[in-house]
Amino acid sequence: MARADDQLQSDPMTTKTVNHVSHPLVQHKLSLMRDKGLSTKGFRELLNEIGMLLCYEVTRELPLELVDIDTPLAAMKAPKIAGKKLTLAPILRAGVGFLDGMLALVPSARVAHIGLYRDPETLLDPMLATGNSACAAVSLLKSRGARDIRFVCLLAAPEGIARFQSECPDVPIWTAAVDERLNDHGYIVPGLGDAGDRMFGTK
Ligand code: URA
Repeated sequence: MARADDQLQSDPMTTKTVNHVSHPLVQHKLSLMRDKGLSTKGFRELLNEIGMLLCYEVTRELPLELVDIDTPLAAMKAPKIAGKKLTLAPILRAGVGFLDGMLALVPSARVAHIGLYRDPETLLDPMLATGNSACAAVSLLKSRGARDIRFVCLLAAPEGIARFQSECPDVPIWTAAVDERLNDHGYIVPGLGDAGDRMFGTK
């Protein structure tokens, strides 16, 4: 199973892993995004850039296979990513902000948009806040036959991680940060506000 720089938690009996992507570029860009003065344009660009960096980490240990190729000089066995095409499944709306950056690195990936809406009862949300939308998305993907699912988010709350790991212990998480807590409205604190609103300029 893929690992990133720094594992915050792991359980050898199940995957149950949180990979904290501590790369300085990711951390620097995330800090810029947290600033409430950042423009919509700036927020969108940074989300796209972080998407690319997180994609690099989440694909770090994908299995390779050797295939026969001919260089202009000689035949050789060269490594290529093994198995089926990857599928990128952004959770609408804010998850779409990762997509272009990830597709820049994995241009042949399939894309499966997951449409979930924020219900005031269940607080469905696009970041790993309550964990409700992440769990719903995983169960949807599993019902469609997806295997080796990996969850990538920008920010996570401890409450969301706990919920996600109890429901989906086989799905590892990649996140740029784990913040302090959720507030009463299901927002991550200190967080960065509503990622969808900041990305689309809707507030
Ligand atoms: N969704 C967001 O966009 N922000 C949060 O803080 C929590 C959920």
